[in-house]
Amino acid sequence: MKKIQVTRSSMPPFERYIEEIRGLWDSHWLTNMGEKHEKLADLLMDYLKTPHLSLFTNGHLALEDAIAAFDLSGEVITTPFTFSSTTHAIVRNGLIPVFCDIDPETYTMDASKIESLITERTSAIVPVHVYGTVCDVEEIERIAKKHNLKVIYDAAHAFGVEVNGKGIANFGDAAMFSFHATKVFNTIEGGAVTFQDEWLNERLNHLKNFGITGTETVEYVGGNAKMNEFQAAMGITNLPYVTGEIAKRQAIVECYMNELADVPGLRLIQHQEGVKTNYAYFPIVFEGEGWNRNEVVDALAEKGVIVRKYFYPLISDYDCYKHLSCSEENPVAKRIADQVITLPLYADLSLVEVKKISKMIREMSPLKSEKEQSSQLNLK
Ligand SMILES: *Cc1c(COP(=O)(O)O)cnc(C)c1O
Repeated sequence: MKKIQVTRSSMPPFERYIEEIRGLWDSHWLTNMGEKHEKLADLLMDYLKTPHLSLFTNGHLALEDAIAAFDLSGEVITTPFTFSSTTHAIVRNGLIPVFCDIDPETYTMDASKIESLITERTSAIVPVHVYGTVCDVEEIERIAKKHNLKVIYDAAHAFGVEVNGKGIANFGDAAMFSFHATKVFNTIEGGAVTFQDEWLNERLNHLKNFGITGTETVEYVGGNAKMNEFQAAMGITNLPYVTGEIAKRQAIVECYMNELADVPGLRLIQHQEGVKTNYAYFPIVFEGEGWNRNEVVDALAEKGVIVRKYFYPLISDYDCYKHLSCSEENPVAKRIADQVITLPLYADLSLVEVKKISKMIREMSPLKSEKEQSSQLNLK
């Protein structure tokens, strides 16, 4: 059987991309905020329903510069249940990450535990909309206002997500989106920062371009994080397809939900009231007795199905962060990291394959579902 990978990049029709980049052979303008760059920025502000956006060469540098833009100091409260990038962006800004436990149902930062972590050194909160699931944005905003903290969301997974019709980009002081090849929308590599205050536009433009503020002036210790024209062209050609791709993802997720609903000891992702999600990932948590996550991963790999322990290990268990906090302080995150996998999910995954994968998992179940139990009773 052909291997089923956990993800597969979306690509536009070849001819469309070639058409989009053809003009670059006339202009010879390949990077530094060219025509494609400006066009993509406009299209994305529309799609994400947000007034301010700055493009970057990748999501990680977008997050680093978003954090840098606020001149923070001291400690930043964040989640240990995320991709390495989130914490690295904090630490590479000279800040100290303080890990907050996660909610056992949404896997996002447990907002009720934030206030106990605030000290006089705390300057910001960096929560993550993991898997495209929305954080407790209202409670986080309330806490941030009360304690005068900045909120910078890692929205790498949340492209196109909306809360009661409002784009996810509009929550917090800033939000970072990733357009990496494996994300719902891609520019090969790429990212963006969305933000509330207009002044940040200039600041981010300077930070991503060596801190250069004029032809003969350099005011900031900037880096280089500009998106080039070929990336922007990929975004322009991919964007018209993204709504359709999300619809296909939805059908896949609904199929998984149906097929796995009555498997005992499995926790599936829950629908959030008022949220339009993007079906970015399909995590399942083996929380029932008898399940062994690692054995499931190996058994599926043997059958040609590649899944991901996403996120494992917990960031607080990384070699480079072990000294910061003992992860026993975050028991929910620790448990979920030990029990979670994400299943294959990309627009072109067929429902036949989804059913096949689901069946494999059902058959590995150490416990029988009620339906199977009753059919066994009937046999007696
Ligand atoms: C992908 C991702 C990033 C980094 O984005 P890149 O575009 O790959 O640099 C950051 N945070 C999370 C949660 C991600 O999934």
